[in-house]
Amino acid sequence: MLSKNCLIPLLFLSQFSFAQSFQKLHQKSLVIDTHNDVMISILEGLKIENDLTGKTHSDIGRFKKGGVDVQIFSIWSDERYEMGKGFNYANRQIDSLYSIVLRNPDKMMMIKTPAELKQAVQQKKLGVMLGLEGGHMIEDNLQYLDSLFKRGVRYMTLTWNNSTSWASSAADEAHPNPPGGRALKDSAKQKGLTEFGRTIVKKMNELGMLVDLSHVGEQTFWDAMAIVTKPVIVSHSCVYNLCPHRRNLKDDQIKAVGKNGGVIHLNFYSGFLDSNYEKRKTIFFSHHAKELDSLKSLKWPSFDIDIWMSKKYPVEMQSLRPPLSVLLDHLDYIVKMIGVDHVGLGSDFDGIESAPQELDDVTDFPLITKGLIERGYSKKEIKKILGENFVRIFKASLIIK
Ligand SMILES: [Zn+2]
Repeated sequence: MLSKNCLIPLLFLSQFSFAQSFQKLHQKSLVIDTHNDVMISILEGLKIENDLTGKTHSDIGRFKKGGVDVQIFSIWSDERYEMGKGFNYANRQIDSLYSIVLRNPDKMMMIKTPAELKQAVQQKKLGVMLGLEGGHMIEDNLQYLDSLFKRGVRYMTLTWNNSTSWASSAADEAHPNPPGGRALKDSAKQKGLTEFGRTIVKKMNELGMLVDLSHVGEQTFWDAMAIVTKPVIVSHSCVYNLCPHRRNLKDDQIKAVGKNGGVIHLNFYSGFLDSNYEKRKTIFFSHHAKELDSLKSLKWPSFDIDIWMSKKYPVEMQSLRPPLSVLLDHLDYIVKMIGVDHVGLGSDFDGIESAPQELDDVTDFPLITKGLIERGYSKKEIKKILGENFVRIFKASLIIK
């Protein structure tokens, strides 16, 4: 029998070897994050080559530290960039990403095909992929869609929070006439996909651009599911039944993605994971009502206000964060419902003001691997979740039928 004195170092040793083993498994696995918004900060003048700790969630050095092999960068704009502006603005962001990759040929590689993805991983470079967040940026023009595909865009969310003339968003479907907000009539003429919307979805399938159903309204979701011929991606959303937010998927939607062979990539936003987060935030914000009113009077978007508050009151905002276990709960939920082949990670880092505790930035991805081991997932299952599931749908999307 071991004496008590012997047990202490043994315990220490087993903890040490566990830490080593989850790091090892994480580093050995292909890690793909399907949604990151750091390009917003890059366009504002920050350099991704620099250590941006404290300013952003991501930079080249920290992607490496977090074991991220492939990052899909969001090419995003809001409704200010619609007709006449959106396509140009998307291209400006893509130009910027291309020049970043050109400046860092030893560290990064642009990926358009699964073969290039493999090459980037073999060469230990960060694989850079492009995802268009907001169908309004194609300006109702199929040639623009074509052109963006040629430049490397491999998924498009049919809408962002704003509807297009051909697809309604989750935000607009939930609140078709918000007080002081966008009315459905200003954007989508009807709920769901129009005939032209269906043409766009079919064209995306033909090209090999993944149809991304994050951000879309329920009717758009079902209209798209009825006609897609390839697996869909949900690049950054969570489970409605665990956190009833309009951006999350209801059970029948989750089942439909499973049946279609698609993958739901979980968003790390506290507000999509924990239904009490918004309540805690509202109480905290109510203590600063005067300050917030002045920002609102300047017409600041709520996202900018959230970011501003998180920078001004880091300690208070920190205390609002849910534990990391909630993210794993969402993951477990999907796995139990449709299996381990249909879930992945789409952090939304640099597009959110709050993620669960411990997930401070992209260097913390290994903690998810740790959590998955602790919950009993096998190595094979973990590898699927971390990246292989995405590779499967990426390959399937590019098969010409
Ligand atoms: Zn988004």
